[in-house]
Formats: sequence, C-alpha cells, structure tokens
Amino acid sequence: MTDPAEVWRGRVQDHLDAAGRPPLGPMTGWEVFPFEREGLTAKPIGARVVPEPSRERTPDACGTCKALAREDVVLHVGQRLAVIRPGGTSLLFVANVVARDHERLDDLDETADEELGRLIRRTYRALRALPGVGNVQVSKWENGGGHLSVNVLARPLGVLELRGSNLPVWADMLPNIPQAEYDARADVVRAALA
Ligand SMILES: [Zn+2]
Repeated sequence: MTDPAEVWRGRVQDHLDAAGRPPLGPMTGWEVFPFEREGLTAKPIGARVVPEPSRERTPDACGTCKALAREDVVLHVGQRLAVIRPGGTSLLFVANVVARDHERLDDLDETADEELGRLIRRTYRALRALPGVGNVQVSKWENGGGHLSVNVLARPLGVLELRGSNLPVWADMLPNIPQAEYDARADVVRAALA
C-alpha cells in the first residue's frame, strides 16, 4: 500500500535546495511576521523517521502533572479537566486547559469532549474580559509529552505586531511580566471560572 506521507515527502523533495532547505514562504511577507525576511533561511528537512522516536514523558517527569499539584498555578478543577497557568508569561495572561490525569486528547470520551469545549470557551471569555486584552488565541500543540494541554493566550491591546498565529513566537522573545501582576490577574481568572 502506498504510504501517503512518503508520497508527500517525495513531492516536497523537488521543492528543496541541495541542502534540503525550502524557499521562504509568503508568511514572511505578513506584516505580523516577527522576523525580517533579509538574512532569514529555513532549516533543512531531513529524511523521514518512522517509527517516530517517542517524546512521551512519565507522570513523574511531566511538567503539567507537577503543575496540577501546585495550588498557585491551578485556576479551576473540573470533572476530568482542569485549567492551570504557566509559572510566568510575557503576555498579559496565559492559561492551559489540561487533563487532570496524564492523558491525551485522543483518550477523552464524549463527556470529556463536551467539558473540554465548555472549559475552552469559559477560559477564553475569562481572559477576553481582562482589562488591556486585545484578543485571545487558542492552540493545541501537546508537545508530544502525552498530557493534553490547550493553550489560551491573551494578547495586549494595540500591540499590532503580536496579532495572529505568531503570538507564541513573539511571547518567547519578550520579558516576563512582574509576578505580582500575573498573580493578581490569576485571581480574577480563578473567580471567573468558579
Ligand atoms: Zn502529565
């Protein structure tokens, strides 16, 4: 049987230079793209690796499991899911809708799916209502660690460069907000989710 991913990889090969690098895409021309196009190069795309190496962590080594045990970062505890926040952020606020147990999105049943939808919506609204927030972005990357985490990120109002899907890239380059300010906003979000 033809492997669609192998077909995809073969097709992409014709698009790469001798070092395996693709040319820059149209996204580099977006006004919200974080980097200057001049001097920018893509990383080479290597050969496929199948099976993929596991990045799965045990609960002992899982940052999300550890965070769930910390009262200061837990914002809400539901039936099968919870809402937590990272220890620090450069944005106005970041919350993660996570599974209470060490499990993936794939493991949820229909009842948990409904809870996930409700909690994402409530977390979105809680962050959207914070003073100074221009927009709230939602993403699910899961980092291969094996613990469901949906990221909800609050962008400061009027900082137009941070609009859109590159928000996490900008966030990575900017300094964290003062902890006291972050903690005060956490109290507001906790109350909104109660
Ligand atoms: Zn975990």
